[in-house]
Amino acid sequence: MALRQILNDNHPVLLKPAQEVIKINRGVLRLLDDMNETMRDANGVGLAANQVGVSKRIIIVSSGEETVIELINPYCAQTEGEEVGVEGCLSLPGQYGEVSRAEKVKVKALNREGRDVYLEAEGLLARILQHEMDHLEGTLFTDKALRMVDPEELQSEEKSEEKT
Ligand code: ZN
Repeated sequence: MALRQILNDNHPVLLKPAQEVIKINRGVLRLLDDMNETMRDANGVGLAANQVGVSKRIIIVSSGEETVIELINPYCAQTEGEEVGVEGCLSLPGQYGEVSRAEKVKVKALNREGRDVYLEAEGLLARILQHEMDHLEGTLFTDKALRMVDPEELQSEEKSEEKT
């Protein structure tokens, strides 16, 4: 495994839709391993492949404890409700904003074995999934933020430290 550099400053690969994964080959598996290590090193809770410069439809999200969920070609099959919350992003250090997201999502994807996975999530996990799938469309949270939030304002809000 190796650490990869997380791109920021609106690098072009972050601003365009990522390519569907056709074949889960060794390169894809190595990328997944590297993304795990890179996200852990950055204390992030989610990471999309194009954040490390690879334009492929792959995301990983931390589901709370030690578990990391790896999703290849993920898409949102269903959404429910709406919730506004503060988000940050590993690619936009020091920036935070309030974003409206679906409260619950159902996501379909492939796992690293190429098997179908079907994931239901709500709350913070649902938010992270939507944030990461947006990355795959070339969309950053700042494109959708209802308003940006001053980092000092966040001291009182706990969720704010999460970076995706
Ligand atoms: Zn992000």
